[in-house]
Amino acid sequence: MTVRRTVPFVDLGWQTRRIREETDAAIARVIDDSAFILGAAAEDFERAFADYCGVRHCLGVGNGTDALELALEAAGVGDGDEVILPANTFAATAEAVTRVGAQPVLVDCTDDYLISVEGVADALTSRTRVVAAVHLYGQAAPVEVLRDVVGEDVLILEDAAQSQGARRNGMRAGGLGDISGTSFYPGKNLGAFGDAGAVLTDDAALFDTVRKLRNHGGAAKYEHSLVGRNSRLDGIQGAVLSAKLAHLDEWNQLRRDAADRYAELLGRDERVQLPLVAEGNEHVFHLYVVRVPERDRVLAGLADAGIGAGIHYPAPVHLLPAFGFLGRGSGSLPRAEQHAREIVSLPMYPGITADDQQYVAETLLSVL
Ligand SMILES: *Cc1c(COP(=O)(O)O)cnc(C)c1O
Repeated sequence: MTVRRTVPFVDLGWQTRRIREETDAAIARVIDDSAFILGAAAEDFERAFADYCGVRHCLGVGNGTDALELALEAAGVGDGDEVILPANTFAATAEAVTRVGAQPVLVDCTDDYLISVEGVADALTSRTRVVAAVHLYGQAAPVEVLRDVVGEDVLILEDAAQSQGARRNGMRAGGLGDISGTSFYPGKNLGAFGDAGAVLTDDAALFDTVRKLRNHGGAAKYEHSLVGRNSRLDGIQGAVLSAKLAHLDEWNQLRRDAADRYAELLGRDERVQLPLVAEGNEHVFHLYVVRVPERDRVLAGLADAGIGAGIHYPAPVHLLPAFGFLGRGSGSLPRAEQHAREIVSLPMYPGITADDQQYVAETLLSVL
């Protein structure tokens, strides 16, 4: 009997095993202290992550979608305001915009999967309040170029959910714009043991408002100066995130090494479009996305060979039923639509072996 070979899409167990003693001890301390919500472990992580990103303030919240929504709400974005965002992002970016009452204005992407600066320039109106720079797949959008195009009066919100540790021109993603939201969903480059997220900003007023909004509208118990909500970081998640943060650079380097290996294995075949790294960027390969002809047949071939592959994402935001109200039909954002038909995300995680990557590459080339 032959054992069927498999390569998972991600292997979170590899990370967990490496820090298990640390996380067990840190979680035990949170339990011993009964410091379950915010508290010392969460605050220690907020400090450490702010320092890591080179940003003055970090606030731990419930998840990445809340982080984006709280950032927009704190900036006073709402009814009648327009927020420009790329059509090829995860639905959460558009959800956050819609939930604060603002109008999502979708623009196309470029071949590196980042927001099109020309698209942003064309979409600007007198109602534009924010541009959401999504650092998709693990590299930073060209925030400084966007700044030149939109001017100082438009807020730049970074969606840094896929880019923990990435750098652009030497600065960390999450610290490039006015305010950023990130996600510590377990599969992200820095992942918690459950849902978690954070807002980062240098702006003291935005920091103060998010701090209140996330905790029933007040910085202290029973102070309710704003109509807030409940979106806070758990102590246990803070403890886990601190333990993992210490390994983030090393684990991102393993992702970059794996990306180099894929490029070596696949680069000679012109049917495979490898990921492009934009000038000035240090990519952290949250996802390793290639484009291929007959994508669905390729995906089926990979699945038959026991290889976990994905599509991020199967449809651009304007073609999702939830965002039909935007009235942007098929053909309106051609590059994002074409990419959605051609992209495949190959297995990518710290700990993937050269042998497994060779099997993935050989299988991909043989099914093409
Ligand atoms: C994961 C993700 C989010 C949302 O984060 P959650 O923690 O799942 O709410 C937002 N934007 C992008 C680009 C993401 O990848």
